Amino acid sequence: MRFTILGSGSGGNCAYLETDDTRLLIDAGFSAKQIRQRLASIERSPETLHGILLTHEHSDHIQGLAVLCARLQIPIYCNRLTQDATEHALGARFDCRIFQTGGAFDLGDVHVETFSVPHDAQDPVGFLLRTAAGNIGFLTDLGHATRLVLERVRPANVLVLETNHDEHLLQEDTKRPWSVKQRILSRHGHLSNDAAAAVAEQVMSAELRQLYLGHLSRDCNRPELAHRAVATRVQQIGATHVRVETTSQEHRSPTFEL
Ligand SMILES: [Zn+2]
Ligand SMILES: [Zn+2]
Repeated sequence: MRFTILGSGSGGNCAYLETDDTRLLIDAGFSAKQIRQRLASIERSPETLHGILLTHEHSDHIQGLAVLCARLQIPIYCNRLTQDATEHALGARFDCRIFQTGGAFDLGDVHVETFSVPHDAQDPVGFLLRTAAGNIGFLTDLGHATRLVLERVRPANVLVLETNHDEHLLQEDTKRPWSVKQRILSRHGHLSNDAAAAVAEQVMSAELRQLYLGHLSRDCNRPELAHRAVATRVQQIGATHVRVETTSQEHRSPTFEL
């Protein structure tokens, strides 16, 4: 199994997973050109993709879909409400394979488990992708971690966890009106660095090896703040077997192999 975060931040999210039989994107929140360039940097191309999994319809998760799918007809895996909202937002129709939120399905040799997350979209989900080599959890875009969410990602060997903002930087930010700050901070907004640290502690297991910190706000966070908040907590609980790594919107992460 080879896993590469092509980019992650509040302005764009896209990851690539490859197993023996299956090649997938998880979200497509960069331009098609960017996605193509970043795939090329790991010697891959959109032409060989078997599908694109969508967490929800916000533009930082779907921006590249229209151009990518218009030419290549890559099937999209999402729930019905996300399909409707995505097609409406992009003014295009897609070849969608619909799953029920909370359900599971096989995509080639990847077993995809889906679960609901509290976020201000139509029907947002997280994923646990089970492969023969190990499990990858996706937990971004959520205002708080429910007991269900914690249970569903606990089998992960690799976890992508949202560290959206530093609470002080968000409070002091002068660009965002009060109402937007309230939305971000709400139970259906985004996880702060400290909230993510608490999630990391609650889902910790002997099997977790890699923790990616994702979806950082450009204005209201810094990679070193996110890393310090989570890595300190991981150290405090003695989980020295887990590697904590921040991700970037500007460039892809090194490929992780299991
Ligand atoms: Zn997002
Ligand atoms: Zn979102």
